[in-house]
Amino acid sequence: MSWRYFTSGECPICWGLRRDCRQSLETLLVHCRYREAKPPDWEQVRPDALGAMMWRQISTRASYNKSNPGAAWRELERLEKREKEQQQSKTRDNGLSIAQLDIEIRKVSDQLSLSVADRERLRSRFSVITDNIEEQDRLISESGCRSVSQWQKLHSPVNDRLPGVKEGGRSLLVRGEGILCPIANGQGKYIGWQVRLNNPTDGQKYVWLAGERKRASRPTSHLKSGELPIPSGSA
Ligand SMILES: [Zn+2]
Repeated sequence: MSWRYFTSGECPICWGLRRDCRQSLETLLVHCRYREAKPPDWEQVRPDALGAMMWRQISTRASYNKSNPGAAWRELERLEKREKEQQQSKTRDNGLSIAQLDIEIRKVSDQLSLSVADRERLRSRFSVITDNIEEQDRLISESGCRSVSQWQKLHSPVNDRLPGVKEGGRSLLVRGEGILCPIANGQGKYIGWQVRLNNPTDGQKYVWLAGERKRASRPTSHLKSGELPIPSGSA
């Protein structure tokens, strides 16, 4: 991110009333702490990570229009996402950073495989996206989905702070046979996972993996924004 720092009197929002005003050269948003300001051609977006208000110029708003995404808007969304992820990685109570989550989830998926029947199930899900079988297989392999059985055993133990891992790290808290699908963030790091149960007992087909209730500090899947790479509307 590159910035233009306003010197005294240059800021179009406060005209020098505040000191650390700046403008992003990527988003063109002005970051100014003078929230009481009512500059005619500017409107408030939201506070930035440092607590300053972000302002956008109304007359140039077309470049920030979400239905017509310009580079500036995409950049802003990318930054917002990163800020959010950084915040979540700090507040997550399972004590694992995003990097650790990714490592531990891969340790699990590396020791599991995908059954022929589950591959067929996934192909039929992905057929909504493409008819091409090779393309379906590519999507399946990218999704990192694996077959799991009830209380899936692990050959090599993983960190039991990972949501859905039984204390001791030698099995998964999966209550039925199904397909385990890791959820990646925008940078391709695995941050959580869901299981699609083959035979859901309570009608809930997709379940987030969470820790055991009896443990004092129960690890949970905090990031609930990710979605299964499978269209959930299909049977
Ligand atoms: Zn200012």
